[in-house]
Amino acid sequence: MSYSPTLLPEIIQAIATTIEDNADTVTQLDQAIGDGDHVINLRRGIDALVQQSSELSVLTWSEAYQKIGMTLLTTMGGASGSLFGTLFISMAKTAKDKALDRSGFAEVFNQGVIAVKQRGKADAGEKTMLDVLIPVAQRLIELAPTSTAMNEAMDVINSVAEVGVESTRDMLATKGRASFLGERSRGHLDAGAKTSQLTIAAIISVLLTTPA
Ligand code: ADP
Ligand code: MG
Repeated sequence: MSYSPTLLPEIIQAIATTIEDNADTVTQLDQAIGDGDHVINLRRGIDALVQQSSELSVLTWSEAYQKIGMTLLTTMGGASGSLFGTLFISMAKTAKDKALDRSGFAEVFNQGVIAVKQRGKADAGEKTMLDVLIPVAQRLIELAPTSTAMNEAMDVINSVAEVGVESTRDMLATKGRASFLGERSRGHLDAGAKTSQLTIAAIISVLLTTPA
């Protein structure tokens, strides 16, 4: 079972829609403990990806991840631009010459998340996007060798991402701008964790309606 990059235009559109639908909420989160520009940064990246949609759809997954990563890196700005860029560029490297079945994709995503950890010098529990990305990567690895049905596995991943976002609420931020606030960073969700969860949910919503 494998999905094709021809799904990318629909996936990118679904991500654009969910970020717009949640723009005010996410901006309030980044205003509370950051500088309020997270949605603006994301919009720049997503707008550029929308423009490239049809070009991306004819590439291999590895080529598409590379192009997506470079586009995010060069258009977004902010800490999140370099981190999301790094995620996809590392995924591109791992995806080369690999079948993107369940275990192939789990490994590719996991390597991407490891690269984000290295780039941001951060780990789980620091109130960042990694509090969504790390548990999602771990669960993908766990689920890959099982016979769990795709729709069930995707429900599990959605829940893991939601739990990950919620887990950031009471964390003390020790990385990124929110760390400047020290104890005052507690009590708010992390914006990058929220948009990572929204993105994962949008991707899953497209995959669930598409036969592999
Ligand atoms: P900036 O912080 O430069 O204003 P954004 O507002 O676009 O950039 O992105 C902020 C998000 O980036 C945070 O909510 C957090 O999830 C993530 N982030 C910041 N620093 C790190 C880091 N070192 N490692 C992982 N994620 C980080
Ligand atoms: Mg910001």
